[in-house]
Amino acid sequence: MEVVRSVAAWRALRANWGTGVEIGFVPTMGYLHAGHLSLVQMARAAHARVVVSIFVNPLQFGPSEDLAAYPRDEARDLTLLELSGVDAVFLPSPAEMYPPDFATGVTLSGPLVERLEGARRPGHFAGVATVVTKLFGIVGPSHAYFGQKDAQQLAVVRRFVADLALPVEIVAGPIIREPDGLALSSRNVYLTPPQRAAATVLRRALAAGRFASDTGMHDAKSMLAAMRAVIAAEPLATLDYVDVVDPATFVPRDHGGPGSLLVLVAQVGKPRLLDNYLWRADGTWDTGSVAEEGHA
Ligand code: AMP
Repeated sequence: MEVVRSVAAWRALRANWGTGVEIGFVPTMGYLHAGHLSLVQMARAAHARVVVSIFVNPLQFGPSEDLAAYPRDEARDLTLLELSGVDAVFLPSPAEMYPPDFATGVTLSGPLVERLEGARRPGHFAGVATVVTKLFGIVGPSHAYFGQKDAQQLAVVRRFVADLALPVEIVAGPIIREPDGLALSSRNVYLTPPQRAAATVLRRALAAGRFASDTGMHDAKSMLAAMRAVIAAEPLATLDYVDVVDPATFVPRDHGGPGSLLVLVAQVGKPRLLDNYLWRADGTWDTGSVAEEGHA
């Protein structure tokens, strides 16, 4: 496995691989877990070469967010990626990605970037869009893999890739969960043991929303009430938002039903925890899957 830290070193390696080599790309912020590794496995199964980036992108953190404290463990990450059969890791410094004369940004407009995460984290999606566009420009993948866990980010990436006609196919991977249902996240390390136990409330609330619709209460009001009641019963959790939206536009829907997304964010201790259930257009649910034993 090659580890490259500069655009120039990456270009030299890429030239060695020759033209016409299909690259599957997984962008991450590191501190890897089985959710990241499931995306790597999907890419490994589909492409001749797999490239993973590890970059804690300052542009997507707000001034009061955890940029400096964001968990990092480069040595462990590199071991996990080597064991996963990754061909190359791109690990640039902030100065490599954003030299002093850097002057370009990718911004979107409309409900997709203004509602929910967009409203809570001003500038976040512009930071994501700018870094992902730059990473695509550097790596040149045919396919790029993103987690359904960050559903709004996934929709944003699909939007700007389509709008800018970027020659990359976006592939989504299901949410990978702990055995008790908590979605894996690098920020779960912030949870104390009681908070960790309470954090299953997100999954339980989503299940209650689904149950409401399964028992005939498809209207968003009933589904939202069911989810809110579960969060309200957990004293260690504070609801940030819950919504039933169109998964591509994040415009709210009056009714659940196929082609809708239940999104939920709650604060448990320090971290804001994100989770969602996707009601696919074909009528089946994507509620994620439990991490295979022995994975990070
Ligand atoms: P991050 O390092 O948090 O930026 O995440 C890198 C990629 O991994 C993103 O596409 C995330 O959506 C994805 N990801 C994070 N957590 C999970 C999870 N529990 N299951 C599946 N994908 C995930």
